[in-house]
Amino acid sequence: MSQAQPVIAIYPGSFDPITRGHEDIARRTLRIADRLYVAVAYTATQAKKSLFTVEERVGIIREVFAGDDRVEAVAFRGLMVDFARDRGARFVIRGLRAVSDFEYELQLAQMNRELWEELETVFLAPELEYSFLSSSLVREVAGLGGDISRFVSPPVMKRLRAKLGG
Ligand code: ADP
Repeated sequence: MSQAQPVIAIYPGSFDPITRGHEDIARRTLRIADRLYVAVAYTATQAKKSLFTVEERVGIIREVFAGDDRVEAVAFRGLMVDFARDRGARFVIRGLRAVSDFEYELQLAQMNRELWEELETVFLAPELEYSFLSSSLVREVAGLGGDISRFVSPPVMKRLRAKLGG
């Protein structure tokens, strides 16, 4: 019998910056996948006001997962499904925090299936304490000088301090 293929997953998003909620989803993914690409999209954020550049976000994610060579931080342009196919990823991971995420995430999953039907979307739920957490909230609170150390890892704190001062 031939050896089983490694299970490769992609976790795409803006990650501006990566939060402990994202990290939680990534770590849960490693229970079902052998390799994970945490993939920062160039396109998805253009409409939003970003704090970190895509390159900075990739650098931060690399630091956060420095101890785990199963996780690779990458940036991608264009369609996520094309990037996934190029990297041999057959599973796309998305986090579901609350019902409010559900409608958009389901639309996205259906559209991605139209684009490449061999890519399976897997939804994972984070630890309860991260289920209200978003990058935009972290940016907002950090920008106003609030303590967000419970919600992001030390490398992210360091970069936020450098970016925002204080
Ligand atoms: P986008 O910019 O596409 O909205 P994000 O970069 O914020 O995405 O997040 C990427 C994915 O991670 C999305 O599936 C989002 O629902 C999920 N996610 C974001 N924050 C959390 C969290 N605190 N817990 C679980 N999943 C999360």
